[in-house]
Amino acid sequence: MKGSFKIVSTRGIHLWIHWTFLLLVGWVILATIRYAGDTRQIAWSVFFIVAAVACVTLHEFGHAFVAYLFGIRAKDIILLPVGGTASIEKFPDNPVQELAISLAGPLMNVIIALLLWWSATPHAPFWAIPENINELPGRGLLYILRIGNIGLALFNLIPAFPMDGGRILRALLGFRFNYIRATAIAGVFSKVLAMVFIALGVMLFSLLLAVIGFFILLSAGTEEYYLRLRSLVKGVRLNEVLMYDFTSLQMDMTVQEAAQLLINNHNKYFILMEGEQPAGTLNRLEIIKAIAEMKYTQPLRNLVKGELECLDGTQEVAAVLEKLARDEDQAFPVMNEGVFAGIVNLNYVIEYLLLHNSGTREYSRLKSLAGLLR
Ligand SMILES: [Zn+2]
Repeated sequence: MKGSFKIVSTRGIHLWIHWTFLLLVGWVILATIRYAGDTRQIAWSVFFIVAAVACVTLHEFGHAFVAYLFGIRAKDIILLPVGGTASIEKFPDNPVQELAISLAGPLMNVIIALLLWWSATPHAPFWAIPENINELPGRGLLYILRIGNIGLALFNLIPAFPMDGGRILRALLGFRFNYIRATAIAGVFSKVLAMVFIALGVMLFSLLLAVIGFFILLSAGTEEYYLRLRSLVKGVRLNEVLMYDFTSLQMDMTVQEAAQLLINNHNKYFILMEGEQPAGTLNRLEIIKAIAEMKYTQPLRNLVKGELECLDGTQEVAAVLEKLARDEDQAFPVMNEGVFAGIVNLNYVIEYLLLHNSGTREYSRLKSLAGLLR
């Protein structure tokens, strides 16, 4: 996701933090300075934030761990102010697996809350904040942390997309209906629930309820987009959507030489070659940036970030849909038995669908839903 920084990587799972999360941290610190002021309270606040981040991270690791038990790998965990997201390689079509993976996150928060409650003396009711909370600078925060975890579990269990509850609902519907039908029903239910939240927000003058409602309303559309795309590409393999018309540049070409090519070409992504093999991709903007920074004599090799991900031509499009949808112009090289065959991106997939089996109405609908992703 754009605007995220990587914190740590372990066993192929990368933990990212989105910059807006830092706004939340800054706000908590400023609020503490304003109301308490002494360094002890500020230190507790910082401790509290670290603990809260850890709870959100554990929630996501809960999803990732259960997915791993089913042989599905998680690649990125992104922390956002509204919570986290674990991007799992592919969400299973199997309702039992989807149910287990979706429940694992909120379950983590329930376990943390129980541990905090169990370790606290004296025991207050599980959900209550003690009345003398202000006299308990240290413990008080642990109580709040417990309530926070209960809140996190409940929020995520709201039966609407994109919350875990939405996936739980779809999984439960999946025992009766097929995957496509189940998602459609859960999608409609999400929108109805969003309307209820917005209406309640207006009636009760609650900004929070209204914001949750709008959040669900927008995100349910994204889920619907994935579903439509997923059902349309069923059975289509990468080799069928391959594009052969692309521009490749050599790794040791200089920025100046690449600039010459840029003028006569409007591709957004270029494939960098090491001899006959693709070795990296470069965004048009990255080359323009290098020109602006006057790095004319530098080889393109120096501009490449990260490792190149090649896809296999025999793979199904559905299996790499999430990967392609992250940036609809990003090109991925496709290999067939070790030989570079062509490139693919989400736009080619949508164009292929337009040309082959879906009508213009479906195409414009997909395009407008795709807009929700940006
Ligand atoms: Zn979750």
